[in-house]
This record gives sequence, structure tokens and C-alpha cells, in this order.
Amino acid sequence: MKPINLIIFGRQGSGKGTQSLMVTEEFGSVHISTGDMLRAAIEQATEFGLQAKTVMDRGELVSDEVISGIVAERLGQSDVMQQGFLLDGVPRTLGQAESLIAVLEGLDLSLDLVLNLEVPIDEVTSRMMSRGREDDTEEAIARRLGLYEQETAPLLEFFSEKGVFEVIDGLGSETEVFERLNAVITRVISDKK
Ligand code: AMP
Repeated sequence: MKPINLIIFGRQGSGKGTQSLMVTEEFGSVHISTGDMLRAAIEQATEFGLQAKTVMDRGELVSDEVISGIVAERLGQSDVMQQGFLLDGVPRTLGQAESLIAVLEGLDLSLDLVLNLEVPIDEVTSRMMSRGREDDTEEAIARRLGLYEQETAPLLEFFSEKGVFEVIDGLGSETEVFERLNAVITRVISDKK
């Protein structure tokens, strides 16, 4: 199978993380989740992890500089070239998006597909309230959703001008949502030269 390089957007609580795992399992691309990378740093109790934890617990964004650095480093590893990548939870700001484009150009990597997993705000709020993650306080949820609308939603337009962009309905069962993603990704792979 040809490697595919993609980004998945979606509000927190949209099922993006779960679907990303299903997609990478099916298509073999390397799953790059900045949230997972930051949580791993917290787990290891590095100084960097402790700093990130304060920001994450407040529902704020880690700096563009830090995020762009860890993403550039990961994209440069050899498995990405062979297997493709799926970016999950990044980019979240215009600064991150611009840095990403530059890194991809530098590594001669294409961007084949940008997905937006669409789930309305009311639905993601109730999903997050019930998942009970440590950083899911009501206040932090509201702040993160606000930041998403303000900082990340404008990127959808930015990327829709750059190439293949698809909105996927994120309502329904995990299997139903995955079938929608699968169909779009399969089509894009078969069109890839
Ligand atoms: P996530 O697992 O993607 O929901 O991320 C959890 C938290 O990690 C976010 O609320 C942010 O504080 C931080 N984070 C993850 N990815 C990014 C990013 N691309 N830019 C800034 N902060 C991020």
C-alpha cells in the first residue's frame, strides 16, 4: 500500500484520538499526537513535562516553539518516509501550520489529505464531561473549546486552499465514523501517483 500523509482536525472530544488509532492501524501511517507526546513527557517527570503539565491542566496551549520543535524532530525520523504520517492534535495555531509546511517542504514530504472530523460543541462537551480525564474540568473544557474556535478553526480554511480537504461527519458509532474515514482515505490513496 502506498504511504499516505494526513492531518486530522476535530474538537477535543470529537473521537479524533480513537479514530486516529484505527486509521493508523489500517493504513500503517505513523501516528503523531502532540497530546500523547506531552503526556509521555509528564509521565517521565522531566522538567519539560512538568512545565507542560501546568499549561495543559489550565486548558491552555503549549508554545508554538516547543510544539513545532517536537513535531519537526518526529517527522524527520525514517519510519515517516516509509510509512507516511497522521498528525493528530497538531497544528493548532497558524504559527504551527506555517512551521509544519516549511518542515514538510524541507523533508520533501507531501500532504495528501486534511480531514475535519466534525462534531458539534454541545456533543463534544457532554462527551468530555463523561470521560473523566484529569485535565477535563468544566473550566478547562470551556477554555480548550474556545481556543479551538479561535486558533484552530481558521486553519481549516488555510488547509482547504492547500489541497485535498474533506469534512467527515463525526456523529454515530466508532465503526460508522471509521467507515466514512476509510472510504475517503482509500480513494485518496488510489488517486495518489
Ligand atoms: P490533546 O491530547 O490533543 O487534547 O492535548 C492535550 C493538551 O496538550 C492540550 O490541551 C494542550 O494543552 C496541549 N497540546 C497538545 N497538542 C498541542 C498543540 N499542537 N499545541 C499546543 N498545545 C498542545
